[in-house]
Amino acid sequence: MKIWVYPGSFDPVTNGHVDIIKRSSKLCDKLIVAVGNNLRKKYSLELTERVELLKLAVKDFTNVEVDSFNGLLVNYVKSRGASTIIKGLRALSDYEYELQMALINKNLAPEIETLFMMADIHYSYLSSSAVKELVVNGGSIDGLVPDCIKDRIIEKLTGEKTVL
Ligand code: ADP
Repeated sequence: MKIWVYPGSFDPVTNGHVDIIKRSSKLCDKLIVAVGNNLRKKYSLELTERVELLKLAVKDFTNVEVDSFNGLLVNYVKSRGASTIIKGLRALSDYEYELQMALINKNLAPEIETLFMMADIHYSYLSSSAVKELVVNGGSIDGLVPDCIKDRIIEKLTGEKTVL
């Protein structure tokens, strides 16, 4: 069974992430979306909130599981019996960091491959930070995050319920 892991912060999940999940889940038997909880990173949303939003965003994908992990990604990947790490690549700015991480992970665990999937042109400039910036400044995030969690994201990031 081909098990792949798609790791990230998902702070919060965007349509760019969902697009990578949709396309990569067609290429493997099971895709585990793994929400990182790096104690040295500052997140806007709690781990439980990031997981909850993701679960709602991927509820229609039958071979996708949402989980979370601490510590080294390669250890988590091995513990889940997975063979491959899948990452999304946006503009050039992602490349240097992702190359470094892929090489470090290859050194730690040569049997695990990192695959990169190019971001869809519509989401190439979409990031979780842009979504947060828009929400806190009252901008629209229509089309940038899944419709089913749009209001929850706004509520969680602002502490306010949106008027329907
Ligand atoms: P991290 O903190 O690891 O960068 P993110 O949640 O920002 O976590 O991103 C997780 C993964 O999703 C990374 O591989 C990132 O390049 C990819 N990604 C983020 N936004 C997009 C997008 N708009 N389109 C495609 N891939 C994306």
